[in-house]
Amino acid sequence: MTAPDTTRSESLFARARAVTPGGVNSPVRAFKNVGGVPRFIASARGAHLTDVDGQTYIDYVGSWGPMILGHDHPAVRGAIADALTRGTSFGAPSAGEVELAELVTRITGAERVRFVNSGTEATMSALRLARGFTGRKYILKFRGNYHGHADGLLVEAGSGLLTHSAGQLGTSAPSSAGVPEEYAALTLVTEYNDPSGLDALMRERGHEIAAVIFEPVVGNAGVLLPTPEFLAALHRVGERGTLLIADEVMTGFRLSPNGATGLLGLRPDLTCWGKIIGGGLPVGAYGGRAEVMDFVSPQGPVYQAGTLSGNPLAMAAGLATLRQLQADPGVYARLEAYTTRLAAGLRDAAREAGVPLTVNHVGSMLTAFFQPEGQIRTYADAARSDTAAFAAWFQAMLARGVYWAPSQFESIFVSAAHTDLELNATLDAARAAYKGA
Ligand SMILES: *Cc1c(COP(=O)(O)O)cnc(C)c1O
Repeated sequence: MTAPDTTRSESLFARARAVTPGGVNSPVRAFKNVGGVPRFIASARGAHLTDVDGQTYIDYVGSWGPMILGHDHPAVRGAIADALTRGTSFGAPSAGEVELAELVTRITGAERVRFVNSGTEATMSALRLARGFTGRKYILKFRGNYHGHADGLLVEAGSGLLTHSAGQLGTSAPSSAGVPEEYAALTLVTEYNDPSGLDALMRERGHEIAAVIFEPVVGNAGVLLPTPEFLAALHRVGERGTLLIADEVMTGFRLSPNGATGLLGLRPDLTCWGKIIGGGLPVGAYGGRAEVMDFVSPQGPVYQAGTLSGNPLAMAAGLATLRQLQADPGVYARLEAYTTRLAAGLRDAAREAGVPLTVNHVGSMLTAFFQPEGQIRTYADAARSDTAAFAAWFQAMLARGVYWAPSQFESIFVSAAHTDLELNATLDAARAAYKGA
């Protein structure tokens, strides 16, 4: 294999490092744990990315989740272009906000929804609301779940934190410098998929806990699926007046029309959305029962605002994306069929090459963990993976034109634009990469 040409990416990365911390605007993009130069992307269409050196890749990152229809979908592009002719931001209400809220409430069963600009804002606002509604101070989260970068949620957090601080797992300190211990102390943490641990903590502290926030299917420690016993324990938290907050920023509109909530039959009090809800533009949202949501200002006493919230271009992109998904209900079965075949192909290729591998997948989410076949259900399980072997495989895939998520502890995303052509090319690359890795 000839080494890929990275001349232009290298030069842009050098310039970026001189003006931006680490050269990137979100940490996992830096390729820190897989090595090599991050590819600067020039354009994206369908299931493919093209970098500034002219190489094309089959894309399994999908902008970390939003691009479920594939890049540059004509309906989404058309909706944005149409909205653009009417102006970019009004600072006053507009029809797109009402239409998207009506669609989201109809799909999800939430009675009220409030739009913000990112998943981080959604979870941060939902927690403030839960505290305001219950009059309680503490929140509870699960080890290795990631809910964005608000102070109180950077405690035992997954995603980029796992990628960049591997080796320091299992401490109860904040996952980031700059988070005061006093803030972190208001966030209680227990193990994902440990129903008795959750029950015990709720028995002891439940009366002080405003909300339990969780990833219904974890994507940010790699893909982890909840056990039925754990889901039952989550539903019991309501018995103590604690609100249940499903963080569906990654899974919402991806695992089913109503996300993991629809797939798993969950009944959360509040739900947070992001990623797909903005169709590739910056949108987050939180919503749920009217009784709780009406505590949000200006209706209620919990303050939350945003200069660009409900932005008309972003609403148009979100609406076009959700409408497209609604108009094609078979899309979820097709995404799952592709992902299931990808999982089987990766397992076979690894076995053939003698590489230990466990693949977790659901719907269009998948993680191939470099460790012997077995159950991976918790953050500690995921952390046992061979990250050096993953990094070598990642580079071999990239050199063969497959853009996998640059971390062992992330999910990859399949889009509706991925076809048999991409599947076969991916598995050819994977077979060669396992043999080389
Ligand atoms: C991506 C993500 C977030 C944060 O969303 P941003 O838009 O990056 O702020 C929160 N929760 C989950 C589950 C996520 O996957």
